[in-house]
Amino acid sequence: MATSTNLCEMCEQPGTQRCGGCKQVHYCSTTCQKQSWKEHKILCKDVQNFSDEHRPPPNGSNSMFRRSILFAPDEEAPRFVWVEFKKQDVSGELYELPVLEPFDIETKKSGLKYIQQNMRLQREFLHVILMRYRDSFYNDGSQRNEAVRKVITSGLRDKVQEWREPVLATALEEFDYAPGVPSRDLNTSDLRHIIDWFHSKPAYHG
Ligand SMILES: [Zn+2]
Ligand SMILES: [Zn+2]
Repeated sequence: MATSTNLCEMCEQPGTQRCGGCKQVHYCSTTCQKQSWKEHKILCKDVQNFSDEHRPPPNGSNSMFRRSILFAPDEEAPRFVWVEFKKQDVSGELYELPVLEPFDIETKKSGLKYIQQNMRLQREFLHVILMRYRDSFYNDGSQRNEAVRKVITSGLRDKVQEWREPVLATALEEFDYAPGVPSRDLNTSDLRHIIDWFHSKPAYHG
């Protein structure tokens, strides 16, 4: 499985071209860039408002803000948000954990899935994307997540899982099984991996 980050986000080819807007995604060709644009444009411009100069100052020495991606249920599309991470003592070890309350996701009861590879592209990342959501979203009378639906290819909408309530993507430098793994920003290129992950989850008929 390939691990390079400079590969085309739509196919297995080397990504010799880069998006001139955000400079964070690579393509092998104009054809792949055009294919990607419908989803890529959602965050391509927005990322300028989430550069280092816009980063909120930390709330003390244990705090830091990371660029993350929020799928809010009543919004038309995903968007970047700053998520505060705090170094927290868990059984004597320090872990960087996100503050989830502002996003209507309960820290203790949230569902959590790790994305570390893109199965469609047979590609591993050097970082890990963490998907958090309210894990009871199928039975607490919740509303369909329109921002997730926006990025699901229209022909697949009935075939893949329907998400409800907020879904938040954050990132760590590596799996957090060990303490001290640093949090990190998400880039526009991560949206493609998240979309492919949504597409990989078959519809749930519970
Ligand atoms: Zn390509
Ligand atoms: Zn771009």
